[in-house]
Amino acid sequence: MTYDLDHQDIRDGVARLCQDFAGDYWQACDKDDAYPSAFVNRLTEEGYLSALIPEAYGGLGLSLSAGGAILEEIHRSGGNAAACHAQMYTMGTVLRHGSEVQKQSFLPGIASGDLRLQAFGVTEPGSGTDTSALKTTARKQGDQYIINGQKLWTSRAEHSDLMILLARTSDVPEGGKKTDGLSVFIVDMREVLGQSLTIRPVSTMMNHSTTQLFFDDMPVPCENMIGEEGKGFRYILTGMNAERMLIAAECIGDAKWFIQQARDYGCEREVFGRPIARNQGIQFPIARAYSAMRSAELMLNEAFRMYEAGQNPGEEANLAKLQSADASWQAAEACIQTFGGFGFATEYNIERKYREARLYQVAPISTNLILSYIAEHVLKMPRSY
Ligand SMILES: Cc1cc2nc3c(=O)[nH]c(=O)nc-3n(C[C@H](O)[C@H](O)[C@H](O)COP(=O)(O)OP(=O)(O)OC[C@H]3O[C@@H](n4cnc5c(N)ncnc54)[C@H](O)[C@@H]3O)c2cc1C
Repeated sequence: MTYDLDHQDIRDGVARLCQDFAGDYWQACDKDDAYPSAFVNRLTEEGYLSALIPEAYGGLGLSLSAGGAILEEIHRSGGNAAACHAQMYTMGTVLRHGSEVQKQSFLPGIASGDLRLQAFGVTEPGSGTDTSALKTTARKQGDQYIINGQKLWTSRAEHSDLMILLARTSDVPEGGKKTDGLSVFIVDMREVLGQSLTIRPVSTMMNHSTTQLFFDDMPVPCENMIGEEGKGFRYILTGMNAERMLIAAECIGDAKWFIQQARDYGCEREVFGRPIARNQGIQFPIARAYSAMRSAELMLNEAFRMYEAGQNPGEEANLAKLQSADASWQAAEACIQTFGGFGFATEYNIERKYREARLYQVAPISTNLILSYIAEHVLKMPRSY
């Protein structure tokens, strides 16, 4: 079997679409802390956000690497796919563990754009990285679960109809693992918003539409539980490799954008009567960033190849995320330095992308936790937490 990791047609299509959403569009959204609705609507209309939904449910039925190509291209053009990437990275949980009834009731609507699945409620103020310590509860009452608790950093909740929610349905059973007793739900937020669900925006250093959620006896029908009660953490875990790879693709796109901007500006800008790119002090950081980006890209391609061959690329997906996030940050540093003072002026978009690229050292998984994964699962050192 051969793997088309280039997806050139898809890249060309996304690049064309992105031409209508240039730097000034993203600057305006950033300035007003506004959700890029027009951009997300166009992506939906052209089918890109249904990339990973099987054709049987109205989606494009494309591979994960095709999803990665879409996200990478958005970032390579200077945009930000964070406004809509959750629809891709939560899809694995629904496709792999959702019932046929759930797929029939949600996927066609998501594919057509009538429904948005953009919210993923896992992190809480008190638990953070230690997901098993989350406090939100779901107690069964008749034919529904009653949810109480809160989430933090639930991005895009104000711009989504549905949310994948992780909550505790029982205490950790005697002799069980800390992650036992957690369950996953598809919550239709339209039915409960303003009543038992309160959404409060959280202002951040970049435009990310992230929020805090409060659940006050929020009812969710039992049929909206994904898979079996108490096994939700492993359902979320099975989607982690895909999430790491999709975010890595965005970081590769960011790195390519920064490198291109730095290269072009360095060749144009003349100081002391010659282009600044003639100085090795300017060239070398850009060349180093390019080297890091290419290594990360090869690792990511390997992760996609293994994933699409049905293997488990735990090591490769984690390394790809780590290296891509580092490469994009290295490229961001080289770029802002190359631009000098102009890098700080909003009109060049460098400072905006610089703020946006920094997130991927922390979320959706921090660099430290990836290093812990490599140390424990690849190098077989003792677990540190
Ligand atoms: C803009 C933004 C959007 C987000 N969107 C979402 C979302 O949509 N849904 C969602 O569920 N979450 C989301 N998150 C949350 C994100 O996944 C968490 O911020 C991240 O997992 C880290 O958790 P924390 O912030 O609580 O940090 P903490 O857990 O408090 O950790 C703080 C620091 O300590 C480090 N640390 C903690 N434990 C260890 C250890 N054992 N070894 C080494 N280092 C350690 C961490 O790596 C981190 O650097 C988002 C976060 C941000 C900032």
